[in-house]
Amino acid sequence: MKYLVECLPRIGCTSIAVHANERPVVASLHPSTLELKTVSGDVSVSIPLPHNVDIKCSYEFKACGDRDYVLRLRNRNEDVVGNRELNKSRNFLMSLPEGKWGKKDLLDLGQFKLTCLCCGSAIIDAENCFKLNEMPSEFWMELMDYWHCHKPDEPTGACETGRYSAKQNSLNPCTKELLVGGSFLLANAGTFTGRVICDGNLLRCSKCNVTLGEKTKEQLYKIYKYNMKLSSLNGEECSFFPPENDIVFTILNHVKGNSARHILLKCEDKKVHVWIFAIDISVTLSDGAIIRNCMKVLYQEDVKVEGNHNIDDATVNHIPMKCFLAALDGVNTLLPKNNAKMGPWNVSYIPMVIE
Ligand SMILES: [Zn+2]
Ligand SMILES: [Zn+2]
Repeated sequence: MKYLVECLPRIGCTSIAVHANERPVVASLHPSTLELKTVSGDVSVSIPLPHNVDIKCSYEFKACGDRDYVLRLRNRNEDVVGNRELNKSRNFLMSLPEGKWGKKDLLDLGQFKLTCLCCGSAIIDAENCFKLNEMPSEFWMELMDYWHCHKPDEPTGACETGRYSAKQNSLNPCTKELLVGGSFLLANAGTFTGRVICDGNLLRCSKCNVTLGEKTKEQLYKIYKYNMKLSSLNGEECSFFPPENDIVFTILNHVKGNSARHILLKCEDKKVHVWIFAIDISVTLSDGAIIRNCMKVLYQEDVKVEGNHNIDDATVNHIPMKCFLAALDGVNTLLPKNNAKMGPWNVSYIPMVIE
C-alpha cells in the first residue's frame, strides 16, 4: 500500500492519498496517527501525521480513479491559527534557519577544521581563520545595493565597516576572515595560501588537485561546503554536507529574491526545469518518514518553455545537481502512482533545510 499524507498549513487541511487494491477504511484516528486497514482486513498500516488533525470530522475514503483513494481531514484549529501567523507573507522565508554549517554551528564547535573531502588535508582551521561572518544572502545583497545607491558614501575603511564595502560595492573580507554562506565559504586568496591553488577560475586542493570551488568575479575564493568535511579539533565530531543543499539554497534565493516559481537548473550536461509548486508544507511518505517544512517540487528534464511562464535560469554544479535529482527521484518512487505525476511533471518533496 503506497500512501502520501500532505499537510497544507495555510489551508488548514491534511489529505491522505492511498493506492491500494481494496478500499482502505479508518481503523482508528488519533490527532497525530491514522491507522488504516483494507476492507478485508488483510493489510493494516499506521501512518504518523505531520500535523495534529481534528478527530471529530467524518472520515471516509473517496475513490478517485483506479485503486486510488483519498481522505481529507481538517487540521486542528489551534495549529491552523499558529501556522497562519508564522507564515505571514514572505517573512517566513526570510527567517529560515541559516542551515547546516552556518556561523553558529561552526562557533559551537569551538575550534574546528574543514578538510578536503578527497585527501583530508586542511583547507580551513584555526591557523588561517580568526574571524567568521555570515554571508549576506543574495537577496540581502540586492537590498544593500539599493541602500547604498540612495545614501551618500561615507569615508570608511573596508574592514571596519564589516563585510560589505560601499566603495567597491562588493564583499571585501580581510585575510583570514571567512564569510559563511548557505552552501559555500568565501574568503580572499591570501587566506588559502599554500592550501588551495588557482587553476583558471577553478580552485583546487594543493595536495590532491581535486576541485574545491571557484574564483568569483571579485577575485574571492568560493569553496563549496560539499567538497569538504567538517570536524571538531579532536576529530570526535565530524559531518558531511549533502550536496543537494546547494541546489535548495539556489532555489530559495530565486524564490526569495524574484518570487520565481519556475527555475531552469543547468549544469554542464543537463537541464532540469523545476516548478516550485508549494513551500513550507509537511508530508508523510510511504515509508513512514515525515518531512517537515519542505517544498513540493515538480520537475522534468524535458524542458518545455510553455508560453508565458517566467523562468529564472540558474547555473549549478554537476555534483549537487546529481544528488538533488537523486533525492527527488528517491521520494518520487515512494509516492502513490496518482501523486507521482502531474501531467508531464514528476512530483517530489525536499526539505528546505537539509541536515
Ligand atoms: Zn585534497
Ligand atoms: Zn552535470
